[in-house]
Amino acid sequence: MLNLVLFGPPGAGKGTQSKKLIEKYDLIHLSTGDLLRGEIAQGTELGLEAKKLMDDGKLVPDAVVIGMISNKLDANKDAKGFIFDGFPRTVAQAEALDQLLESKESAISGMIALEVGDDELERRLLERGKESGRPDDANPEVIRKRIKEYNDKTAPVAGFYQQQHKFTSINGVGSVNEIFAEIVDVNESYKK
Ligand code: ADP
Repeated sequence: MLNLVLFGPPGAGKGTQSKKLIEKYDLIHLSTGDLLRGEIAQGTELGLEAKKLMDDGKLVPDAVVIGMISNKLDANKDAKGFIFDGFPRTVAQAEALDQLLESKESAISGMIALEVGDDELERRLLERGKESGRPDDANPEVIRKRIKEYNDKTAPVAGFYQQQHKFTSINGVGSVNEIFAEIVDVNESYKK
C-alpha cells in the first residue's frame, strides 16, 4: 500500500496536489477539513461543535478527527492506498495514525511537506476566500490564527516523521505542474 501524508500550512496547496496524486496513483483522498465541512453541511452535532472552532481558526479535538479517519479506513478496506491531507495535525494524531495503520498491517510510506512563506499563504487564503465562501478564509485575523496554530501544534509533526526517516520537504512556490513533478519524484522513492 502507498500511504502518503501531504503536509504544510493552510494554503500550501495540499488540496490541489492531492487531486493530481489521486488521479495518477488511484488512491483514496482523506481530508479531515473536507470531512468536517461535510459534517457541517449535514448539520450533525459533530459538525456544529467543529464549526465553532474552525470559524475561530482553532483545531478540532484530536479524538474527533482520529475517529473520522478510523471510520474511513474501515470503509475502504480494499484501497490501494491513501493520501492524508490536513491530517495528522498534531503529534498525538500522528501516533494514533501509526497505531491505526499497524492494526491493519500497514504503515505510512512517507510525508511530503510543501514549504510556503507566511505572506504568500495569507495572500493565497484571502484569494481563495473570495470564491470558496469558506468563512475561515475570509478574515485576515482568522488566517493568522490558523498559521499560528500550525506553527505551534502542527509543525512538530514533521519531526515525528523525520525520526522515522519518512520526511521530505519541497518548495511549494512555483507552478502547480512543477510542484507536482517534484512530488511524483519523491513519491517514487517512497514506493521502493
Ligand atoms: P487548511 O489546510 O486550508 O487550513 P483544512 O480544510 O485542512 O484547511 O482545515 C480547516 C479547519 O478544519 C482547520 O483550521 C481546523 O479547524 C479543522 N481541522 C481540519 N483537520 C484537522 C485536524 N486533523 N485536527 C484538528 N482540526 C482539524
